[in-house]
Formats: sequence, structure tokens, C-alpha cells
Amino acid sequence: MTIGIVGGGQLGRMLILAGVPLGLRFRVLDPVPEAATDGLAPRVAGDFDDFAALAEFHRGLDCATYEFENVPVTSARWLADRLPVFPPPDALAVAQDRVAEKQFFRDLSIPTPAFRAVQERAEYDDALAEIGLPAVLKTRRFGYDGKGQRVLTSPADCARAWEQLGGRPLILEKFIPFTRELSIVAVRGRSGESAAYPLAENRHRNGILARSLAPAGTDELQSEAEDFARRVLDRLSYVGVLAIEFFELDGHLIANEMAPRVHNSGHWTIDGAATSQFENHLRALAGWPLGSTVPTGHAAMFNLIGTLPALPPLLAVPGAHLHLYGKSPRPGRKLGHVTIVAPTRGELEHRLEHPALKSLVSEPESS
Ligand code: AMP
Repeated sequence: MTIGIVGGGQLGRMLILAGVPLGLRFRVLDPVPEAATDGLAPRVAGDFDDFAALAEFHRGLDCATYEFENVPVTSARWLADRLPVFPPPDALAVAQDRVAEKQFFRDLSIPTPAFRAVQERAEYDDALAEIGLPAVLKTRRFGYDGKGQRVLTSPADCARAWEQLGGRPLILEKFIPFTRELSIVAVRGRSGESAAYPLAENRHRNGILARSLAPAGTDELQSEAEDFARRVLDRLSYVGVLAIEFFELDGHLIANEMAPRVHNSGHWTIDGAATSQFENHLRALAGWPLGSTVPTGHAAMFNLIGTLPALPPLLAVPGAHLHLYGKSPRPGRKLGHVTIVAPTRGELEHRLEHPALKSLVSEPESS
């Protein structure tokens, strides 16, 4: 079976690394000069909206998937007219527009921050009057890793944010004074069976995920998250892995956004769960039984961002597993991740005190 992956970044790379032992073959579409998947699978070097490239890419594939959510929906639908595409392009369409996404959560009775779509200045003033401060102003589309958003706590912030972001389709959201950020990674197979991993607790630095810790939820939060994930999966007749990011407030979950793909907060599953999110995504695509999502212990995943630390000391940490993406260093770029696993939470915390992890563990911050 040959699977096409739209996008040649680290998520594509880890999908391929999980699929090779399953006997799967891959082809990648990505226009960049160098992709993280190069050396692992052949690549069509074309733009995501170049239909000649899409035609070359899709020939002979059994199915196609994507590893980033800004794939043009028209391209995903073009592929879906010719071969099975998972997750369904409808999931892409929802996840690409923050207003559609929040409306989708609302329609499924999944709690989400109060929001208003904003395009004109008058709508902005109305939305501010309705939602009040503090609030968050975000671009509706193409925002990621905290880009294209401003937290508003004063009238001066509101004016400045409008100068910076105004004129584009925007969303104004109520600011949620959350206690933690949690995410669930869930998977649904072609037959409709589904499974979910334990919640991960996520810390961000400069808007980029820095650390995920799992398992992180209480039984109540876990069943709430699984229930919400199941509603999303079933409504979309979804096939593959889905992630939903939540804010925890007063012991309940508020959905912030969803990603119709394997997710950074699920990287810990490679070393910390019976079956990784990457393998389960592929099992779902292939129509095979899903693998167990049970954690094998406790895990902490740290992204290696911008520059790489010295690797031998990192590998000396008990339970450390290193994953590099073959990318050249650049500020803000995810170059790899390291996951520390341990049989108990106490032992994990002990391992996290290792001096080689000092720069990764320090300065925890939540935005
Ligand atoms: P997003 O791009 O929506 O994932 O937002 C990036 C980060 O900004 C989130 O992980 C939160 O830390 C913070 N954030 C976004 N929206 C809100 C909100 N409505 N209330 C509080 N914090 C938020």
C-alpha cells in the first residue's frame, strides 16, 4: 500500500518512520528545496495548489493524508475526487477558520470561549462591548504558534491591536484565565472504532509548544475530553488522528482549537504509549485495527527549538529518547524533540532534575 502525504515536515517524517515497519510505502508533496522527509520517501516538489504537481503526486496512491492544516481545501477535494483522502477535507475546512471551528464546537455542545467574528471597525467595537476585557484578538485564518494574535487588557491594547491586525477577517474571543492547557489526541478507524490517548498538559514558550507531560488529567477530565473528541470524530465521519486543545478552568474543559492531523502534543506516544499516534494514524488510514493507546508509564516531551543542545549529555538522562528532524537550525524552528519516560510520576520528576535538562525544564510559562 502506498500512502501520499501532503507536506514534508517532521510530522510527515515521523509518519514514514512509523509506517515502514508496517510495510507501507510513501510519496510526499512539498515545494521546499529540502524536506524533513527527504531520504525516507520520494517527493514531488510542487506547490500545494499546483494541479500538475497534484496529478503527478496522486498517481498510483492507495490513499492520501496531510501533515499540516493549511493545505488548500480545493487541493484536498481535488485529491478526494480521485482517491480516499483522510482525514476528510471537511475537517480541514473547519480547522482552517477559527470562526467555523468555534461554531462547530458550539453546534456539538462542546464548551468554547465566547467569540464574535470581526471584519469592520464597527463590528470590533460591538464585539468588545459584548465580550468585554480581557479578550484575545486573532486572525481567522493561517494563525499558528501564537502568530497573528493579541491579548487585550486595556483600551490602548484594543486600538494598537486593530492597527496591527485590522482589515483582515478576525475573531474576538473572551480571555480564559485557565489553570492549565491540556490536549487530547484521538483516532478513528475506517470502521468507526475510536480510541484516545491520555490527556497531555502543555506549556508554551513564545507561543510555541515547549513541553508536554502525560498522562495529565483526572478521570473526570479524561472522560470529558474523550466524549468531546468522539463527538467531533463522529460528526465528521473522521478517519485518522485528531487533536483538540483545551483550557482547563474550574475543573472543566473549554475547547480552544482542533488539529485534523497528528499533533506535537502527541509526540510522547512514540516512546510512552503502547502504539504511537503516528502508527495509529496509519492503521486508521489503511483500514486496519487500531493499536492500544495505553501509556506505558509517565512521559515528558520537550521540543528542541532554534538550536540543538549538546546531545551526549541529553542521551545520558535515564529514559531519554531523542528524535531529530534533519532540519538546519533557525530561530523558532522545531529541530527535534526529546522524550523522557519513567515508570512513575515521581521517578519522572526525579529524572527531569538531571542537569542536562536544565535549559529545557526552566522558565516554564504558559503562553
Ligand atoms: P492558539 O493559536 O489559539 O492555539 O493560541 C495560542 C495560545 O494563546 C494558547 O495556547 C493560549 O496559551 C493562548 N490563548 C489563545 N486563546 C486564548 C483565550 N481565549 N484565552 C486565554 N488564552 C488564550
